[in-house]
Amino acid sequence: MLKPLVLVVEDEPAQREVLLYNLAAGGYRTAAAADGEEALLRIEEEAPDLILLDWMLPRVSGIEICRRLKARPETRAIPVIMLSARAEEVDRVRGLETGADDYMVKPYSMAELMARLRTQLRRTRPAGVGEMLRYEDITLDPETHRASRAGAPLDLGPTEFRLLATLMERPGRVWSREQLLDRVWGRDAYPDTRTVDVHVGRLRKALKKGGGGDPIRTVRGTGYALG
Ligand code: CA
Repeated sequence: MLKPLVLVVEDEPAQREVLLYNLAAGGYRTAAAADGEEALLRIEEEAPDLILLDWMLPRVSGIEICRRLKARPETRAIPVIMLSARAEEVDRVRGLETGADDYMVKPYSMAELMARLRTQLRRTRPAGVGEMLRYEDITLDPETHRASRAGAPLDLGPTEFRLLATLMERPGRVWSREQLLDRVWGRDAYPDTRTVDVHVGRLRKALKKGGGGDPIRTVRGTGYALG
């Protein structure tokens, strides 16, 4: 759950496979789409943390997808790295001001692409990949699945752990119950939103066990935030 999800939108099967392989090896979760329509569906299913977007795609072009994503408040913040076959296309991408966050010309160096991808993710996910998350006296290690408060280990179930990790990714951000369901339970599970309240309750209890205050804020009519 904590690994960033990278969506690869590429119609060439061989190029798509190479990207998916390298991303998985780099510790990312991956999703793939072979054309523009499929890409939009994948994004609806689960908002990725970053999109590698081929320029020339069947049905809906990469440019058009980028434009649509950057026009919607819900998807605007998702970094897009555009992959283009020719340098002239990159110039056009720039000229069109599609809002792509970065560009790579094919054939690109995989090492460079991964480096640029990390840069983009650091911008939107300050905690980075597999790094320790910290908020005030709370620390959470996504690698070892351990969390502690003021140095004392927290006794969390797997759901509470994912919930805390999600909240700690972006302190201050207000998450709706639906967004938390997506992130913590996944799109395939459909518990009702009351389930979120139950698990937030358990998480609060675990966090306050050592005598600390309640760091989780209930935002009336919306959801929850850390701090
Ligand atoms: Ca293509």
